[in-house]
Amino acid sequence: MATSSKVLISVQHLVKEYNHGAVHALNDCNLDIHKGEVVAIIGPSGSGKSTLLRSLNMLEEPTSGAIFFDGVDLADKSVDINLHRQKMGMVFQHFNLFPHLTVKKNLELAPSLLKLKDIEAISARADELLARVGLADKANAYPKSLSGGQQQRIAIARALAMDPDVILFDEPTSALDPGSTMKVEELMNELKKNYTVVIVTHNMQQALRISDRTAFFLLGELVEVGPTNQIFSTPRDKRTEDYISGRFG
Ligand code: ADP
Repeated sequence: MATSSKVLISVQHLVKEYNHGAVHALNDCNLDIHKGEVVAIIGPSGSGKSTLLRSLNMLEEPTSGAIFFDGVDLADKSVDINLHRQKMGMVFQHFNLFPHLTVKKNLELAPSLLKLKDIEAISARADELLARVGLADKANAYPKSLSGGQQQRIAIARALAMDPDVILFDEPTSALDPGSTMKVEELMNELKKNYTVVIVTHNMQQALRISDRTAFFLLGELVEVGPTNQIFSTPRDKRTEDYISGRFG
């Protein structure tokens, strides 16, 4: 999908504290994510990257500030947050598949519980998605019989089964070997055609290969955000430059 000028997610003055203010995970962060773009979130451990990602679908409630999705304030108590969560698929570092369900049932579970479509349509969509991630032959397998890379491709298919607008990736390849990482990246590159993507990654090359824009976080602060090529070639902030050149973190 080409990046549009439409802001799909707007993070405004987001503050997140833990332990009654003892931990400042995010300090006054502002970030607009446009429909169709791929935004990489980078920074050393403990910078607030995961907190930001989890805040986007309200898995974390902001201490203050706001997150707008398609113009709707997600903290507004009258908003059906579950409806919005459906529009944001999440893919985790450790896949988080349901171990007691077959691969296909993993894909069918949420759409069935939410009665998004009739059973036949949910089943057909699961088959289509398994084919799309190259794992149609694993429909009746259980997650533990699959490699990490295969499990992650299933987790991506499961996220797609909800027909989301956005996919949030939290370090999707950090538990994978280079070969599996490549296959998951190929899949993510495919997804770019149809979805808005936010990816937290420690892998700088991955951010360069996949994203349109990159945001650098340090100690809860969004230090710098810009076109990925610019962030990596001519960062404006010394702290970004130091991180990218491996001088810390
Ligand atoms: P990153 O993803 O960049 O590694 P995190 O968002 O996980 O950073 O964490 C940011 C800061 O918030 C860290 O200091 C971390 O220890 C703290 N933190 C994250 N989650 C919690 C939590 N549930 N309770 C207390 N502190 C937390």
